[in-house]
Amino acid sequence: MTIERLEGNLREHTSLHVGGGAKQLVRVSTNQELIDLVHDLDRRNEPLLILGGGSNVVCADSEFPGTVIIVSTQGIDWISDQVVVAAGEDWDAFVASALAQGYGELAPLSGIPGSMGATPVQNIGAYGVELAEFIDHVEVWDRESGIKRTMSTTECEFEYRDSTFKKNPNRYVVLAIRLKLNKTLEVPIKYLQLANVMNQVVGTTANAVLVRDQVLQLRATKSMVLNSVDTESNSTGSFFINPIVEHSDIPQNCPSYPLPARDPRVETHVKVSAAWLIENAGITKGFHLGNGDSDIRVSRNHSLAITNTGQGTAAEVIKLASHIRQQVFDAYGIELIVEPVLINCELDQLIAN
Ligand SMILES: Cc1cc2nc3c(=O)[nH]c(=O)nc-3n(C[C@H](O)[C@H](O)[C@H](O)COP(=O)(O)OP(=O)(O)OC[C@H]3O[C@@H](n4cnc5c(N)ncnc54)[C@H](O)[C@@H]3O)c2cc1C
Repeated sequence: MTIERLEGNLREHTSLHVGGGAKQLVRVSTNQELIDLVHDLDRRNEPLLILGGGSNVVCADSEFPGTVIIVSTQGIDWISDQVVVAAGEDWDAFVASALAQGYGELAPLSGIPGSMGATPVQNIGAYGVELAEFIDHVEVWDRESGIKRTMSTTECEFEYRDSTFKKNPNRYVVLAIRLKLNKTLEVPIKYLQLANVMNQVVGTTANAVLVRDQVLQLRATKSMVLNSVDTESNSTGSFFINPIVEHSDIPQNCPSYPLPARDPRVETHVKVSAAWLIENAGITKGFHLGNGDSDIRVSRNHSLAITNTGQGTAAEVIKLASHIRQQVFDAYGIELIVEPVLINCELDQLIAN
């Protein structure tokens, strides 16, 4: 029997450590059981939440009124320079094992928490690199048509921190991902901060083992790797993505970054730094609402992260995130977009002044 019933609250299965219980909480370790269970729940119209590592969700404090499935399927199959990785495999362990075999291109994506199955959902990215660059196709269970099928990158509709999986949260169960990688340990440096710590310039290449080391170190200084002794890392990573604006709308002195070349808006639009907007709207690192101390606050190490250093609740997270979004909107007229998936909760409406 590979369906394991779990006890406890979603707080214990998510990196932000908020969330109530669930009517049913299970861990599934084979694709067939995963498909059979999802199919059965869908037939009965039961609410369903699929989780990997729980590192990009904010679950409401109330009980989830259905079944939460934690996907723990395993398997990494190399076929020459392509590899099929099961949804339940840990992302960073896979990056390390690929690197050990001479496939270094994923090194800039080192240290991102969570499981393989969630990586295409928001097309994970860091230090100028996105997962979509390496995906050949994604194997899914399509809940709408009730069939198992493969999806090309075009069908996945990958964008900056977005995909068809994120846009249609109740349609697909990711079963496995096929990546195509080059056997190389020379990787391009595409991000200024990484180039600086490596004493290089953007556009040059560096050894992937060094890149992984530097990325992990950089991430640790921002509490952007999960670490049980660093409560600042009790977060969802960045809470807001960098908003996309037209060139003419870039606030003065705000850093901006080009969109990926495949984006049709690449000529007219740019991403602007959400961290800069937040800090310049008056939200400092460590900021929290109310007097005295608070378990829910802006990370002391990263102004884009909301952390839970104790027993904070989802309601407090929502209140703080709503406040930050309103402050930025009031200061710059730019609407911040939430990065994590909000489960049965939502930010307050923005108030136009
Ligand atoms: C400290 C920290 C640092 C982070 N840094 C980064 C970063 O640099 N870049 C970045 O892009 N992200 C970052 N993240 C966010 C997060 O790690 C990634 O989005 C990750 O891919 C989420 O994986 P997960 O398994 O934890 O997903 P979960 O939180 O379990 O799920 C996220 C979403 O994916 C869905 N999902 C999960 N598995 C499946 C599946 N098999 N099929 C269908 N849907 C599924 C869930 O329903 C949910 O909607 C960070 C998070 C933390 C806590």
